[in-house]
Amino acid sequence: LSEKLEGAIRTLKGSNRITEVNVANTIKEIRRALLDADVNYKVAKDFTDSVKEKALGQKIQIAVEPGQMLVKIVYDELTQLMGGTKQDINLSGNPAIVLMAGLQGSGKTTFSAKLAHYLKKQNKRVLLVACDVYRPAAIEQLKTLGQQLDIEVYSEPENKNPVEIAQHAVEYAKQNKYQVVIVDTAGRLAVDEEMMDEISRLKETLQPSETLFVVDAMTGQDAVNTAKAFYDRIQYDGVVLTKLDGDARGGAALSIRAVVDRPIKFIGTGEKVGDLDVFHPDRMASRILGMGDVVSLVERAQQIFDEKEAERINKKLRQNQFDFQDFYSQIQQIKKMGNVKDLLSMLPGVGKMVKDLDIDDDAFVPIEAIIQSMTPQERENPALLLTHRTAASRKQRIAKGSGRSVQEVNNLLKQFEQMQKMIKKMNQMEGSDGGRLRRM
Ligand code: GDP
Ligand code: MG
Repeated sequence: LSEKLEGAIRTLKGSNRITEVNVANTIKEIRRALLDADVNYKVAKDFTDSVKEKALGQKIQIAVEPGQMLVKIVYDELTQLMGGTKQDINLSGNPAIVLMAGLQGSGKTTFSAKLAHYLKKQNKRVLLVACDVYRPAAIEQLKTLGQQLDIEVYSEPENKNPVEIAQHAVEYAKQNKYQVVIVDTAGRLAVDEEMMDEISRLKETLQPSETLFVVDAMTGQDAVNTAKAFYDRIQYDGVVLTKLDGDARGGAALSIRAVVDRPIKFIGTGEKVGDLDVFHPDRMASRILGMGDVVSLVERAQQIFDEKEAERINKKLRQNQFDFQDFYSQIQQIKKMGNVKDLLSMLPGVGKMVKDLDIDDDAFVPIEAIIQSMTPQERENPALLLTHRTAASRKQRIAKGSGRSVQEVNNLLKQFEQMQKMIKKMNQMEGSDGGRLRRM
């Protein structure tokens, strides 16, 4: 999904604004990428309609490419679609009871162990309960995991009544001061009445503080249908989306929230029980987009970049009229955006390059001092310092005023001249390439 979305957004790169025409193509491609990733048709359509509306209504930030802008819009919408903010598990009650539901092979037993381990690390006393009574191997599987993690597993191998086992386990937990009871249940290969009856009886009897529906992300559209079938019967509180480490196309994460009004709370990204992944809609959105930190870069630029000022400078650049005042004002803008190195490293592909570079905000100090010592006329008319007959004495005066050497003043002037030449060249270049360079 990320590759396709990237491709879709790339088509916008290089164009200077988002228009009805170029956005329509991109939107079409985004919709196709979503459908290919098994996102439900209605969800994909609503999603792209909303992105389109936002994109067209958006004032383009001069500091930011339209393609990047669209990434930001898509990112915001994806985050919203997946529930907006992270949702915590409810562990109220003494003991708190967490009930697992889901088809066979979805990852209930594995996730039960992961969750137990996660809570144990938070210093909670956790009891795992084996309620899959149909396969003897199921009890063994949970016991083995429990041993690995040093977590007690409650089971009654002879008892075939899961509701009874669970009730006994809760009694046992109360007596032994366990704080959380995690009830692992049996699943079937497909949704069937017996399984649904059993899980709803368990839910009614235990009154868990949290019922989690566990589903295999690799099953695509089926994951959404199963989620709905379970939800109609047992109104669970949250979803666990497992096997996102495989070649899962991510569509399930996007559709489920829209189809059942319940948040994804955890994801599974491996068979190992060591780590539990709490689901963060925003992080999942970046993962789907796979666009480095473009999003945070755009956010920062949006917050800080003064659009009018950027427009003014851009205009002067185009007319080859860039002067010291503009130079100074750009330095101020860059400084407002924070550490220059940080900022550069957020650009995809640039990150590694700047790591070893020696750039910091102090680099601007001498430049600022020198420009500040220029008269307004000198700032607006650099020729006074470059070619005018009074240039030499002016430079001396500036050096004195700024506490810098004439050599340093000369260096800055030389750099400025080179910059002017570059700007001229850029302006001679045709089309959007020049525009892009200018913005940089
Ligand atoms: P249950 O039948 O619902 O209890 O499912 P299990 O917990 O026994 O898991 C079924 C299979 O999926 C096992 O082989 C697990 O190791 C595997 N599994 C579970 N969660 C994940 C996951 O997040 N990623 C991967 N790759 N495999 C998983
Ligand atoms: Mg199991």
